[in-house]
Amino acid sequence: MKRNSPAQPPSPVPPEPAVALGDIAARDQAVLLRRVFQQTGEPVLITDRDNRIIAVNAAFAKMTGRAEEEVLGLNPRLLASGQTPIDQYALMWRALHEHGVWRGEFWNARPDGTPYPTQATLTTLRDEQGHITHHVATYMDPASERATAERLTYMAHHDSLTGLLNRHALQVQLERLLVGARRDGEVVAILLIDLDRFKDINDTLGHHVGDRLLVEMARRLTGGIRASDVAARLGGDEFLVVLPNVGDAMAVTGIASKLRRALAEIYRIGEHSLYSTPSIGISLFPADGDTAELLIRNADAAMYHAKAAGRDNFRFFAPSMNAAAMERLKIETALRQALESMSLTAAQFRLEFQPQFNLHDDRVIGLEALVRWTHPKWGPVPPVRFIPVAEETGLIQPLGDWIFWEACRQLRIFKDHGIRDIRVAVNLSAQQLREEALPSIVRGALACYELAPGELELEITESTAMLNPEATIAILRRLSEIGIVLAVDDFGTGYSSLAYLKQLPIHRLKLDRCFIRDVLEDEKGSAICSATIVLGHKLGLDLVAEGVETREQFEHMKALGCDTIQGYHYCRPLPPEKLIPFLLARQAERRG
Ligand code: C2E
Ligand code: CA
Ligand code: CA
Repeated sequence: MKRNSPAQPPSPVPPEPAVALGDIAARDQAVLLRRVFQQTGEPVLITDRDNRIIAVNAAFAKMTGRAEEEVLGLNPRLLASGQTPIDQYALMWRALHEHGVWRGEFWNARPDGTPYPTQATLTTLRDEQGHITHHVATYMDPASERATAERLTYMAHHDSLTGLLNRHALQVQLERLLVGARRDGEVVAILLIDLDRFKDINDTLGHHVGDRLLVEMARRLTGGIRASDVAARLGGDEFLVVLPNVGDAMAVTGIASKLRRALAEIYRIGEHSLYSTPSIGISLFPADGDTAELLIRNADAAMYHAKAAGRDNFRFFAPSMNAAAMERLKIETALRQALESMSLTAAQFRLEFQPQFNLHDDRVIGLEALVRWTHPKWGPVPPVRFIPVAEETGLIQPLGDWIFWEACRQLRIFKDHGIRDIRVAVNLSAQQLREEALPSIVRGALACYELAPGELELEITESTAMLNPEATIAILRRLSEIGIVLAVDDFGTGYSSLAYLKQLPIHRLKLDRCFIRDVLEDEKGSAICSATIVLGHKLGLDLVAEGVETREQFEHMKALGCDTIQGYHYCRPLPPEKLIPFLLARQAERRG
C-alpha cells in the first residue's frame, strides 16, 4: 500500500508522522514503556550521561515530595539529606564504573528537610561503543509494604546506629559458624571489645558525640577485619568480633593487637579530639566453650580482666577469670548497699588524710583526703578494688559527693582545733569533673564550712585530664577562677602531653610513685624524673613527689628539686583523731 498518496482524501485529523511498520510497533512499545514507567509503584529516576535528571515517574514524585518539572535538568544530589556517609558515594561510583550496578541505602530528605532512608539500585546504560548514555535509579519507597518488611527484617538483625549485626543476629550467626567449625575442627575466636571510659565521653559531651564515636569505632572495627569475619554491636559501647577459622592463639593476638591500636587512635568528632582506648576480652572455641552464649560470657569475663589489668589491652579467658568477674559484681552490689545505707546505719566509709611535707619551709602544707571503706563482713576494702568499680557503675558520683563534703567538714574541724595554714586535697574522678554544677557545689561547701578557696585543692589524674582536654580546660578554668588549687595526679602514667599541660590552669604536678621508684633504679629513670621536674618548674608548677617510702628516695627527690614530699617515709594516711595530735605536735615543734 502506498501511503500518503495525493489520491487519498485529506484526513480530518492531522496525519500521524510517517513511520515504517516496525516503527509502529516500536512506538507502541515506547508508549507502553512510558506508561509502565509512569505507573509503576516503584520510584524511578533516569539521568543522562552528565547525571542530569531527564525523567522521573509518579512514584518518585510521591516518595520525594518533588514534581518532575522541579527536578528535570538537575543533579540527583538535590535529594540528599547530608546524612549519607560521604565515602559511600565514592564506593557507589566505583561500583557503577566497575560493575555497572550498585545497590545500597541512601539517606535522602524531603523538601521540608525530613530525612528518610531509601534502598536504591543504580544501573548505568551504555551504547554499543561502551560509552555511558544514562543512569537509572530505582528506589524502594520507604512507605511501601515491601520496603517496610525489608526494613523490619533489617532492623531486627542490625544495630540501627552502626549498621553492624545486633546481639540476637550475632548469636544466631555464631551458632551457625560453630556448627561448621565443629565439623571442620577449626578454631574460632570471640573478641569482646569495650571502649574504656566511653561513658565519661558520653556523659561529658552528650549522646550526640557518643553516637558518632560509636559509629567511628564500628568503622575502624570493620576496617580491621576480613570480610569473612563478623562484627556486631551488643549494646552500649560493647562490640563483638568473631574470627572464624583463625588458626591459633598467636594469630588472634596479632589481630587483637591491631584492633587495639586502631581503636586507640585519636577520635576527631566535630571540634572534639577524643582519646579513648579499648579493653578486649578473648575466648576461643572449642577450648573456652561450646556454645555461643558461653563463649560470649567468657569473652566478657576476659574483658573485665583486661580492664582490671589497666585497660587498653586484651586478655584471653582463663578459668580463674570467672572468679574475677564474680568478685567485681560482689563489690558493686556491696558498694550500692553501703551507699544506700549511708545515712541509716553506721557509715562504712570514712576519710583518712595523708600529710604533704614541704621541703622549702619544713612543714606540712597539705593533706590528701583518701577514702576508706570498711565492709561489715569483709573488713577494709582497698580503694584500688572499689574505686574503679564505682567509676564504671556511676556510683562514684554519690560517693564522691560524700567525700568532698566530708573533706570540707573535717578541714573545718582541723582549723577549729587550731591547725593553721593547711590545705585539703580531694581526688576527683572523671565523672565528677564534668558535673556542670561542680563550681557551684565547691562554692557552696566553702561557704558552708567557712573555708577560703585556697584551702581546697582538687586532684585530677593525668588520664582524666587527657580524656577530653578542651572540656577539662574549661571546667578547670572556672574552678581556678574561684581560687581553688588544682593538681594533676599520677603524672607520668598517662599520655605524656606537656603541650596540653601548658594550657591547663593547674598549680601542682604530682609525680607518680613509679617515677620515684625508677629514680634510684637506673640513670634513665633519674634523668626522666629530673627533666620532668625542671619542665614542671618552667611551667610554674609546684612539684610533689608521691609514694616516697625511704630516706634514700626522700633525699634524692629533694636533691632533684622537688618542692613537696608525700609518702610513708614522712607519714602514712591517718584518721582525723590521729592526725590532729600529729599536726599540733609539728606546729608546736616549729614554734618551740
Ligand atoms: P592516689 O590518688 O594516687 O593516692 C595515693 C595513694 O598512694 C593512696 O593509696 C596512698 O595511701 C598511697 N600512698 C601514699 N604514700 C605511699 C607510699 O609511700 N607508698 C605506697 N606504696 N603507697 C603510698 P590509697 O588510699 O590506697 O588510694 C589508692 C587510689 O585510690 C588513689 O590513688 C586514688 O586514685 C583512689 N582514691 C583514694 N581515695 C579516693 C577518693 O577519695 N576519691 C577518689 N576519686 N579516688 C580515691
Ligand atoms: Ca591523689
Ligand atoms: Ca597519685
